[in-house]
Amino acid sequence: MNLEEIIGKCGSLKELEETRVKLLGKSGEITQKFKELKNYPPEERKEIAKELNQLKERAQQLIEEKRKVLEEELLQKQLESEKLDVTLYSPRPGGAVHPISATIDRIVQFFNSLNFSIELGPVVEDDFHNFEALNLPKYHPARDMQDTFYLKDGNLLRTHTSPVQIHTMLSQKPPIRLISPGAVFRRDYDLTHTPMFHQVEGLVVDEKGKVSFTNLKFILEEFLRYLFGSETKVRFRPSFFPFTEPSAEVDIGCIFCGGKGCRVCKQTGWLEVMGCGMVDENVFKAVNYENVSGYAFGMGVERLVMLLYRIDDLRSMYQGDIRLMEQLKW
Ligand SMILES: [Zn+2]
Repeated sequence: MNLEEIIGKCGSLKELEETRVKLLGKSGEITQKFKELKNYPPEERKEIAKELNQLKERAQQLIEEKRKVLEEELLQKQLESEKLDVTLYSPRPGGAVHPISATIDRIVQFFNSLNFSIELGPVVEDDFHNFEALNLPKYHPARDMQDTFYLKDGNLLRTHTSPVQIHTMLSQKPPIRLISPGAVFRRDYDLTHTPMFHQVEGLVVDEKGKVSFTNLKFILEEFLRYLFGSETKVRFRPSFFPFTEPSAEVDIGCIFCGGKGCRVCKQTGWLEVMGCGMVDENVFKAVNYENVSGYAFGMGVERLVMLLYRIDDLRSMYQGDIRLMEQLKW
């Protein structure tokens, strides 16, 4: 049996495997010879067994070597055929703005046209700006609502864009009219949550009496009709946030079922889209503001993106699949 020849002429990994089975498999030729050992006289068996073992080892060794050669050839072939020619014409259109950025842009545009300035803050915050100054003292139960990423030095990744309010009020005198878009971080991961997501915060502060809940209600109604269409129904529901008093959640009439009730709106006919309220006196105290009033609002950008683009799984936003992104072009 010329093993070199038999194994050498295998042209593919499949053929090699077939040859291996033919030689060393359960009923392979070499395996068969071992079974025939018992037919030889006892004094010859030892010598024949030794030769058979050598034959078997040699076959295994040759097959292994051949496998490496064939695998290497296959890899080379793949690399050659998958060579990327970056100069080649592609029917795919060029880059597009990511739905999250596009939505932030649209939000910013609206408030910019109403003279809101854009303020940005750091993503690494301290306890004071992220919690304390926003009327969330240590051990306040509302801190549980925020699964915070703490850093080793005691700082944290901001859990909301609200600390930008504090930064701005500490460095500027009223009147203030700002929005603050940006990334925020919480320990959450499922269909509708990712550990990094985006919020847009809004704050208006002026002399006491100049800013009322009516102003807030008007501006948010206008905003939501700008975003979801002029026929959009808007309602305010009493709620609680530590940094505003009174506080409200803002709902829009379900854009999927027109208010009749569906899976997305959990049969209520309404979709919760943002939170808002009049700035709590304790927040003004923390930044040494006196005789002022103000309102604040905040929204999760991803939530709006999911509604505007009708996406079920938020996580798909961050997987960078070009095919998906192309479909989501505005
Ligand atoms: Zn609905």
